[in-house]
Amino acid sequence: MIIEKLVAFSNLYGSNEELVLAGGGNTSAKDGDIMYVKGSGTQLATITEDGFVKMSRTALAEIFTKEYPTDDKEREAQALADLTAAKLPGQENKRPSVETLLHSLFDKTFVLHLHPALVNGLTCGKDGEAVAQRLFGESFIWVDACKPGYILSKICYDKMESYKALHGKQADMIILQNHGIFFAADSDEALGDMLFDVMSKLRGELTKEADFSPCEFDGEKAEKCFDVIYDIYGEDAVITFEPSVAALQIAESPEAAECVMKPFTPDHIVYCKANPVYGFCNGCIRGAVNAFEEENGCKPKIIIINGCGFFAVDYTPKGSQTAAALFNDAIKVAVYAESFGGVLPMSDELSDFITNWEVEAYRQKQNA
Ligand SMILES: [Zn+2]
Repeated sequence: MIIEKLVAFSNLYGSNEELVLAGGGNTSAKDGDIMYVKGSGTQLATITEDGFVKMSRTALAEIFTKEYPTDDKEREAQALADLTAAKLPGQENKRPSVETLLHSLFDKTFVLHLHPALVNGLTCGKDGEAVAQRLFGESFIWVDACKPGYILSKICYDKMESYKALHGKQADMIILQNHGIFFAADSDEALGDMLFDVMSKLRGELTKEADFSPCEFDGEKAEKCFDVIYDIYGEDAVITFEPSVAALQIAESPEAAECVMKPFTPDHIVYCKANPVYGFCNGCIRGAVNAFEEENGCKPKIIIINGCGFFAVDYTPKGSQTAAALFNDAIKVAVYAESFGGVLPMSDELSDFITNWEVEAYRQKQNA
């Protein structure tokens, strides 16, 4: 019963584009000592019982009592080894979500973790925490942006312990700055009610919507852009161009694009790379791509072109379309964040850390 409910609400929320894009988001359920958690590389929209990994809750709880090295690589490698060891027999070929530890720290039966643009308007807004307090009172824990993996889980664990000491019970909601939100409940209905309540309260705060309706654009100029991009990336490049009012607005000038030049969440880094480039004209596009490549050792996936919009470039249709979907999401987050005090992107330090984080690289490969 529990696993059937888990699959059902995972598919339901996973197929709602307002809530889940690409491989983002994950779910779990607890049944006695077993925790079922979404496997890395699966998609919520289509996940079946087999896509969940069975974990030992006792083994997961022990991870929070251990001391880990301070060195990033050593710490994450050890925590990953312990996470792998917490899988129950028969799960050897599966890899639990990188966010498994966060699921395990809630006592409630069902946990839903999402990165919706609307929620991230709040988590990537300068006044995010204050607005969350006004809207949700003391029902949640706010966590400032920090390194993902074990560090994030441990911070959440410690905050949950303090919350419990103060309120005599766990918080049912964790809001992660520059990342997303966790909901926990003992029934799937209660989980749905929490999600609906948060989304409608956030929607009620919006002073501006992102307009993704098709726009008039200079066809000749766009055509030229395609030629230049193929010339730089090669004929096997796949270019996605989705002209919209919102995309054209950010492409109006470098100043207008400023709000999306840095990543908001790990998803944007994973699927779009940490930064887009901005170009004015043919020669300038090549120059911008070359400068990016010199600094990052790879070409950018998103090219914003003055007066046109943005072009998402990859070498598979899926990669290209997913990059475009996630960059549209970033534009949405930027617009929503205006209702929450203005945009607050990730710090360069955190952005660099995530770019180099091997677990994310693995996820990207699995979803490619
Ligand atoms: Zn997440």
